[in-house]
Amino acid sequence: MTFRTKTIVGIALIEVVLLMVLVFSAMSFLKQSNEKQLIQRANSTATMFAHAAKDAVLSTDIATLEDLSRDFMQLEDVHYVKIVRHDEVLACAGDMELLERTMNVDQNLGSVDDGVFDTRVNITSGGIQYGYVDMGFGTSAISAMLDSAKRSIVGIASIEVVLVAIFSFVLGTYLTKSLVRLTRATHILREKGPGFQLNDNSKDEFGELSKSFDLMSLQLKQSYEDLKTARQEAEHACESKGRFLASMSHEIRTPMNGVLGILSLLEETKLSKEQQQLVTTATQSGSFLLSVINDILDFTRMESNTLRLEHQPFELKTCIEDVVDSFGPSAKAKDLILHSYIEGDVPSLVEGDVPSLVEGDVNRVRQILHNLIGNALKFTQEGSITVKVSAIPASNQQTTITCSVIDTGIGIEQSAMEYLFDEFTMVDQTYSRTQEGSGLGLAICKRLCELMDGNIEVNSEPNQGSTFTFQITLNLAQSLTSNVEPSTHQMASALSGIRVLVAEDNKANQLVIKNMFLHAGIQIDLVENGVQAVEQVQEYSYDIVFMDISMPQMDGMTATQKIRALDDPTISTLPIVALTAHALTGDKEQFLKAGMSDYLSKPVRLSQLIEKIELFLVNEEKEPVEDTHSNKTLEPMDSTPAPVQNTCVEQNSHATETEPHHGEADLNLVDESILQQMIEDTSADVIPLLIDHYVEESKDRLSKIHESVAEQNGDQLEFESHTLGSSALALGNRQLSSLAREIEKLCLEGNVSEAFALEPQLQQLAQQSIDALLVRKDQGFETPSSSNI
Ligand code: ADP
Repeated sequence: MTFRTKTIVGIALIEVVLLMVLVFSAMSFLKQSNEKQLIQRANSTATMFAHAAKDAVLSTDIATLEDLSRDFMQLEDVHYVKIVRHDEVLACAGDMELLERTMNVDQNLGSVDDGVFDTRVNITSGGIQYGYVDMGFGTSAISAMLDSAKRSIVGIASIEVVLVAIFSFVLGTYLTKSLVRLTRATHILREKGPGFQLNDNSKDEFGELSKSFDLMSLQLKQSYEDLKTARQEAEHACESKGRFLASMSHEIRTPMNGVLGILSLLEETKLSKEQQQLVTTATQSGSFLLSVINDILDFTRMESNTLRLEHQPFELKTCIEDVVDSFGPSAKAKDLILHSYIEGDVPSLVEGDVPSLVEGDVNRVRQILHNLIGNALKFTQEGSITVKVSAIPASNQQTTITCSVIDTGIGIEQSAMEYLFDEFTMVDQTYSRTQEGSGLGLAICKRLCELMDGNIEVNSEPNQGSTFTFQITLNLAQSLTSNVEPSTHQMASALSGIRVLVAEDNKANQLVIKNMFLHAGIQIDLVENGVQAVEQVQEYSYDIVFMDISMPQMDGMTATQKIRALDDPTISTLPIVALTAHALTGDKEQFLKAGMSDYLSKPVRLSQLIEKIELFLVNEEKEPVEDTHSNKTLEPMDSTPAPVQNTCVEQNSHATETEPHHGEADLNLVDESILQQMIEDTSADVIPLLIDHYVEESKDRLSKIHESVAEQNGDQLEFESHTLGSSALALGNRQLSSLAREIEKLCLEGNVSEAFALEPQLQQLAQQSIDALLVRKDQGFETPSSSNI
């Protein structure tokens, strides 16, 4: 009901009530005064008649009484007269019907039931009653008058009500007009923002109200503008902070990878125990710093909403088991029990449920689990860590996964739990805190869960343990294959949880590969031969194996066959990618026949390694790639544009045609594109050290080659020239590599004497190539300019 209607109804109601009171009191006053007059008149008339008739009654003068009665009948409103003496009617006049009925004396108008007011007066003389006089007075005139008065009063009251209603309507409209304007103004304010002015100059209260409104609107506008500016400035500052953090993280990460690379090289040198300890500590600190930087990068991406989730089919059960397994050695080292319970309703290929895959970002799911289990391990000194996973269908196409990580560790105080998921939060803020961390892990987990339509919560008791439970909603995948290619950039950045085993005997190659993976933030395990590879895959769980073909003790193909023959299906079905210097026709068939999943020709690029990981760990049903020298440039982790697009042997073989241009050394013996590629895949800082390592190792190989020729040992020549060929290509000595391979091929084909004959040429080319490489090293290497997140 509007204010105007309320005003009208309110005033009209008051008016009606007042008028009713007035009408009733006026009517009752009129009735009472008329009644009084009637009773007085009836009594005085009847008394007068009794006096006049007294003598005639005493003398029984009937004629006089009748005359008297007729005379009184002439009076207005007298309906009958009756004179009675000792129950004998002496005379009467008037309405016979009224005279014949039994008369009841009326005391007031209320007792009149026949339209006649009946009264009786005794006829007395000397105190003796001789009879009485009954008289009837008509009340119709009074009733008619009262009715008419009532009608007039009600009529006047009704007119008044209508007039008051009209008046109150006009008043209400006038009063609410200003209110309506004010209401409209507030609507405008709400829709268009502050600033609207009423400009009402009237002098009444509404004028005052309008002025206050205008002032408030102006002040609001000013505050609004100030806030907008402050917000823009804050957003700008936040963006700058994000950009600064991102570029700083990026800038720190690149040299950090270099530092880690150098440390890994240092590890390979002869060190005292104390030095080894220092290198290990430096490596651990470097890795921790790198993980913090990665966290900061992730966080800045989330802050600026640039973090996008992948939507790829994956097997959830395996993903969870893999992450839990990867903590096995750390749990064992701390004497903690680590186990997982994955309920049957969790989509899984092994269980044969349909559908068996979920769709989402497997690496981000891993990251959440990794953080929570990592924290549980960090903050638990004894007892156990349990991972429980269950699933309930959210709809036909979706499932909600609930995962709890329960530990029996130090627990968390109630007061700390409120801000636990805030960024940069650590419960132990003291300088003496025992565990390192950035305080970003849980904040990232929370954001990731929210991005996956879920949430995360914690329950904890100090000194009892903590339970972190997160829920995420994932789509159920329709089939194993998906046409959507994941972005390699995101792929590479999220591969840090992947466990890779590399079997490679050549030290220089080992270092190159290790540094490449380090550059991508992936920790790998290295073994030197097939025997170690077979043992290692049984002892620890891996996601993929990169296997060199020619290795001492057991070659890559035999090792692969042995792995494929193992009983445990999770090991025997591991993706095994051959790393080979052999690129002869038919080799590929041979590798695949031996059970290898795919192969890469040396020198390998980081992008190719990542491509294979992506191929086997994400799109597991894809066929192995036919051309390992694919032109598709997969960006490494930092998405730095590749200065060199292709390093194919065939495409760069013209390098020898140009003249030498640097003193004695022929720099054409160094394939610059390979070096540039290696800088991109590792870091400019580590290249000189890798070269030194290669040079030292090559000298050793060359003397072994010389020995094998002197001893006419074809097998040794074949093995050493293979190894030299492989590492020479990795470091850019392409021609040396080709000649070494030529010798290896001759040995393989049984033309050993021809191979022996080429040895002096090899020694000479090797010397020149190494010299050229050292000259190139002295010129220095530069890291290509970086890109932002
Ligand atoms: P951090 O890198 O410091 O581990 P997180 O965000 O992952 O950062 O964790 C924030 C803090 O929450 C930790 O520093 C620790 O104090 C507390 N915390 C996390 N997980 C646990 C746990 N399982 N038990 C006890 N405290 C924990």
